[in-house]
Amino acid sequence: MPVRDALSSLLSRAVERRVREWIRDANAADDARIAELEGEIEKLKKKLSMTQGAIQASTAELMKLKGAADESRNVAQQAMQRATSALAAAESATEGVTALELHLAEHAEPEPEDTGSEPEPEPEPKGDHLCQVDGCDKPVRAKGYCARHYQQWKRGTL
Ligand SMILES: [Zn+2]
Repeated sequence: MPVRDALSSLLSRAVERRVREWIRDANAADDARIAELEGEIEKLKKKLSMTQGAIQASTAELMKLKGAADESRNVAQQAMQRATSALAAAESATEGVTALELHLAEHAEPEPEDTGSEPEPEPEPKGDHLCQVDGCDKPVRAKGYCARHYQQWKRGTL
């Protein structure tokens, strides 16, 4: 039947047009969605590269700080070594001065009596050859004391 065929054909064309429109709309929607996602991806990429840049900068800063800390530690160690050898030099100089003072004291004229103040009580010698300071086992150099404790006694810091 021609009428029926014509109707059928018309209907199928209308359906086809609807389907095409629907597909086009769907594609457009997909395209928009894809573009949106691509934009998101670009944004994330940018953020990521910024984060990576920040991480690299932080790492560089950290390395610099670590280098500075190492350098400070070396400087501190060198200063410590210098201080230690200076201290050793000072101690040996003190020993030298003490020995010299003992030598002078042994050969000096007896000091005149100080009439103004009470005479300093002289420490009683232990009776042996060791320093009379408790816990000190150095040999006696003068007044029952070893060189170092004699020095301290003389200065009144014993
Ligand atoms: Zn002593």
